[in-house]
Amino acid sequence: MKSSTAKPSKIVQRPGTEAPTGSAKPARNGTSAGKRHMGRVAAMNCVLCELIGERQSSKTDVHHIRDGAGAGQRNSDFLTVPLCHESCHQGPQGIHGDKSRLRLAAVTELDLLAMTISKLQEAA
Ligand SMILES: [Zn+2]
Ligand SMILES: [Zn+2]
Repeated sequence: MKSSTAKPSKIVQRPGTEAPTGSAKPARNGTSAGKRHMGRVAAMNCVLCELIGERQSSKTDVHHIRDGAGAGQRNSDFLTVPLCHESCHQGPQGIHGDKSRLRLAAVTELDLLAMTISKLQEAA
């Protein structure tokens, strides 16, 4: 019979009696903020359709840019762009297809991300 007395030790650093900071900081791994951000991205119009000058004809998907970069790595919820489902996202010429719509607009996924951030700033 194996008896293990090792317990996971938690290192808790207490601020002691330093200056009171008032309310506690919401230290949550950024997941709730990430979800909120993705909600805002989902409410936007397709940035690639806008660049190409086409009318968006399907609902907006939230695309994590640089999909597949690093096996098993999760992309941040903040590295997301709004793309229309049928054409720019899952379509044969979309970002998960042959990416020809990206070439048509002469941009990279990072350009789309920059546009997305810029638009969110304008909307704020
Ligand atoms: Zn589109
Ligand atoms: Zn995607």
